[in-house]
Amino acid sequence: MSRGFNFSAGPAVLPEPVLRRAQAELLEWGGERASVMEVSHRGKAFIALAEKAEADLRALMGIPGDYAVLFLQGGATTHFALLPMNLASPGQRADYLVTGAWSKKAASEGKAHCAVNVVADTAASQYTTLPAAGSYTIDPGAAFVHLAANETIHGVEFPEAIDTGGVPLVADFSSSILSRPIDVTKYGVIYAGAQKNIGPSGLVVMVIRKDLLERPGQPRAKILSYKEHAAQGSMLNTPPTFAWYLAGLVFEWMREQGGVAEFAARNRRKAEALYAAIDGSGGFYRNPVTKEARSLMNVPFMLHDPALDAAFLRESEAAGLLALKGHRDLGGMRASLYNALPYEAVAALVDFMGDFARRHG
Ligand SMILES: *Cc1c(COP(=O)(O)O)cnc(C)c1O
Repeated sequence: MSRGFNFSAGPAVLPEPVLRRAQAELLEWGGERASVMEVSHRGKAFIALAEKAEADLRALMGIPGDYAVLFLQGGATTHFALLPMNLASPGQRADYLVTGAWSKKAASEGKAHCAVNVVADTAASQYTTLPAAGSYTIDPGAAFVHLAANETIHGVEFPEAIDTGGVPLVADFSSSILSRPIDVTKYGVIYAGAQKNIGPSGLVVMVIRKDLLERPGQPRAKILSYKEHAAQGSMLNTPPTFAWYLAGLVFEWMREQGGVAEFAARNRRKAEALYAAIDGSGGFYRNPVTKEARSLMNVPFMLHDPALDAAFLRESEAAGLLALKGHRDLGGMRASLYNALPYEAVAALVDFMGDFARRHG
């Protein structure tokens, strides 16, 4: 068996050089005569690893000094609840833009800890569009505005930050962090589960403006408080050390490869090739998302006849193209084109799609 081209939405493909390096130093790491998994997170070697990971992420994203970087747990989903608990006072309103399954879930989970005000919801288009600027109003008294920068299931991505009139913008970047340059200063909070573009699951990276850490928020245990995590270097308790280590290797690899601008160029090239194949298939394949809202990272597509789905999946897998089955909510296919997925994978997919359409058209 050999590694296939992995289009999984998450946990997702990791850079092969990173996996090889982790393999090479699995038994003895950093002069510790033990695996990175077997040493104290409070030891010198691991602290140095944590500091380097943060420094590399700051360099990659251009994170200014008035933002803290936290390495947390619980998946992005836990932070759907912790964000309002930390940033909103009891009963305070927060504005939510709903543009797909994840931002909908964020709004639904947020309800337990703030008055969720859905200011825009693109359900009527079946989440194939973005709300037009000017079609919704942000409450200047809202604790924050939440959105999902990229909807992993529906394949809808905000091309840039929205204007919130000064209300802190809180953005779930789980599936698009580090995929293209962003202006961090447009955001109050950027957070992402690691298992799409950063590393293994179990880790959440959060970039948070330091003044937001001073908000009283709501009564909560220390372990649920971002301020406490920031004060303790994200080591209030034992962090997922192996995931943190691997994230650090991915950041280092990205810097060696030319940084976020280089990955943005690669990601555009991959997405353009796939969308062109879909749009140019004469209706055999279809992506329902309006062009301006299309995601560079996750591309759902349907076959003109769902009866062909099973054959498509069977044959693509046999051709080494893995995990193309669409999310159960949408059916059809989905190709995720994260940073670690090489262009050759997309080229192979496009070839396969053309061949499949000729044989079944
Ligand atoms: C995957 C994903 C999540 C959920 O992440 P968990 O780690 O499973 O909690 C949330 N938001 C987005 C945009 C995602 O892609």
